[in-house]
Amino acid sequence: MGETKIMPHINSGLHHVQIGDVAVTALNDGQFDADIAWVNGIPAAEGEALLRDSFRVLPPRITVSCFLLQTGGKRVLVDAGAGGAFGHVLGHAGERLAALGIAPESIDTVLVTHAHVDHVHGLLNAEGGARYPNAEIVINAAETGFWLNKDVQAQAPESAQEYFGIAQRSLAPYSERLRLIHDGQDVLPGVTAKHLPGHTPDHTGYMIASGDASLLIWGDVVHLPGIQFARPEAAMAFDIDADLGRASRARALDMVASDRLLLAGMHLDFPTFGHVRRSGAAYAFEPQVWAPAATGLYPAG
Ligand SMILES: [Zn+2]
Repeated sequence: MGETKIMPHINSGLHHVQIGDVAVTALNDGQFDADIAWVNGIPAAEGEALLRDSFRVLPPRITVSCFLLQTGGKRVLVDAGAGGAFGHVLGHAGERLAALGIAPESIDTVLVTHAHVDHVHGLLNAEGGARYPNAEIVINAAETGFWLNKDVQAQAPESAQEYFGIAQRSLAPYSERLRLIHDGQDVLPGVTAKHLPGHTPDHTGYMIASGDASLLIWGDVVHLPGIQFARPEAAMAFDIDADLGRASRARALDMVASDRLLLAGMHLDFPTFGHVRRSGAAYAFEPQVWAPAATGLYPAG
């Protein structure tokens, strides 16, 4: 008998959920080591205790995912992952699509939540061109107004300059195919933009509704689920306006808990789908329990 090894290819990094007529697939892009020092607004020791109590590792890890929507004969991505920006740690979304037999040329639209590297750098192929050559890019008008504006960039601190450069490079091959949207706008049939600003100036989630079913893909409202559902006031060092982000997180958590809305997020633990319930003065995340009907394997009822 040889040594027993884990077979990484067994974990496909794919998970399907059926929302009415829309097939939604979470595509895991990878996971990276974070630092408890990135959490602000609560004591580091409390953050570490929350992670230990939820059987998570220290230092904390941040999962990155993006999503594929298939509806009405169209293929739509929500964000594109990190591409080649972090070596082999992130940037696996393209492989997930390939595993599904989906060619990059067949992606019609990419809905962007915000222009941070782990969401838009995957729009680029290895040569720095458009990985999705036929896709229209949908993004909040004020988000591009921030990242693509040289005057805004000139006012930003040195530490932020790299972020501006990455956003500009990632969107450049699509400059003729950018569709700029506003809060509350219907961006595609059954898909509405939800303004959740703060993490970046005009960070945007997307609400998907079909028949009786709905799903909010809320982008980066939470980066560390082991901490931020229990302590929503905990913000992240790379939130551009932490207080505005806290207000958006409070509003989003109240809405998804009150409406019993199915939720997914780019940094929730894979496969990311679940519900939020109130827990004392804060919240708890309940991962969606696997069921064949919910995953579209056979019809409900
Ligand atoms: Zn992110």
